[in-house]
Amino acid sequence: MKKAKAGTGKMKQKSALPQKTCVVCQRPFSWRKKWEKVWEEVRYCSDACRNKSRQS
Ligand SMILES: [Zn+2]
Repeated sequence: MKKAKAGTGKMKQKSALPQKTCVVCQRPFSWRKKWEKVWEEVRYCSDACRNKSRQS
């Protein structure tokens, strides 16, 4: 793991969030509030990656 800028000692529950791997950039991304209702359908880490996959 890379060093984070945030200081230690203030660890919240971030590590408890579910994670997925983006099917476009192959990078892991974490659960976000905006996905709470569609998390099982989420496959892209961002709109940019979603748009890439939809290019025709
Ligand atoms: Zn991505």
